[in-house]
Amino acid sequence: MEFIDLKLQQARIRNPIDQRIKAVLAHGRYIMGPEVKELEEALASYTGSRHAVGCASGTDALLLALLAHDVKPGDAVFTTPFSFIATAEAIALLGATPIFVDIDPATFNLHPENLQRAIEALLDRDPTRHPLPRQTTGSTLHPKGIIAVDLFGLPADYRQINAIAQSNGMFVIEDAAQSFGAGYFGKKAGSLAQIGCTSFFPAKPLGGYGDAGMCFTDDAALADKMRCLSLHGQGAHKYDHIHIGINGRLDTLQAAILLAKFEIFPEEVALRRQVADQYHKLLFSQSSPVLPPAVPENYDSVWAQYSVLTKKQEYRRNLLDRLHEAGIPTAIYYPKPLHLQPAFNHLGYKAGDFSVSEDYARRIFSIPMHPYLEKEQQERIAGMLLELS
Ligand SMILES: *Cc1c(COP(=O)(O)O)cnc(C)c1O
Repeated sequence: MEFIDLKLQQARIRNPIDQRIKAVLAHGRYIMGPEVKELEEALASYTGSRHAVGCASGTDALLLALLAHDVKPGDAVFTTPFSFIATAEAIALLGATPIFVDIDPATFNLHPENLQRAIEALLDRDPTRHPLPRQTTGSTLHPKGIIAVDLFGLPADYRQINAIAQSNGMFVIEDAAQSFGAGYFGKKAGSLAQIGCTSFFPAKPLGGYGDAGMCFTDDAALADKMRCLSLHGQGAHKYDHIHIGINGRLDTLQAAILLAKFEIFPEEVALRRQVADQYHKLLFSQSSPVLPPAVPENYDSVWAQYSVLTKKQEYRRNLLDRLHEAGIPTAIYYPKPLHLQPAFNHLGYKAGDFSVSEDYARRIFSIPMHPYLEKEQQERIAGMLLELS
């Protein structure tokens, strides 16, 4: 059994992929070829965004979005500690300070009430109200923006997060690396904040055969700036540079592969939802040792991962061992919250600062999830999990 089965998908669309790759080899425009624009237009339209800027990875998408907002040392950007490192890494790489905000226990995503409290604590320089990074004492950090993450494919609470940002004059970036294809009150992930950033890493819901990413926005000026930044800050001419940028372009070959994959993507999203519904039916019971993930009303997860929480911390080792022995692959996203990562030692956070994230890091694990998972396979996985009860 595969955790994410990309071979079954490839078998379905091998021909269109081959055709798309052949077309690139024939025209030879490996950098910024016509497929890049074609993909940008297709995905902008899918997400309901006015503009899309392809780039080299989800990490670069975040970096470009932060650079477009001129994020620099002295700026504070609020984000979740329960995410992949890239979210907070991009902030720190620009010399700005990530301020972590604990998650909503029901959704695993940035908790709006905690966010509000964290902003007030920073403005008042009062770490007794919310844990703040070490630098805040003595210097003044400026609350500049928020990166919310749509963890496991479920959008964060953008109605509240956008409202909090607006009343404090801050920007919001949606880290939609895991949520391309998800929905929130009738809108699509990637379009839920001022800028949405997604990733086409192979294991994401829409994945290429290598690294790639994209930024979405309705703001023409931000789109122009992100494109410029992704091309070494290129101005009117190739050797005219108006910003310090990066080499962050989307490869033509990846765009071509993604165009072939996008043809079956809506169908795959529907299949993912069926798999998730089936898991929910199988795993939701009083005696189950795990809690299946909850999806609030008007939210549509794209189920990048199907992550369950063990009801007790000590169940996890036992369940993972048993699944491993039965040849069922599992993963832990994420075993260590970001505020406890050695890379962020300089921020001075400590264990106990974000108790929900820390507790969940000890209880969570993910089971196989992809559009082609069969009902019998799911029944076998659920059967093994329920045996503990
Ligand atoms: C995968 C991921 C990223 C980074 O995407 P890459 O394409 O691997 O650079 C950023 N944020 C989150 C939440 C992710 O899951």
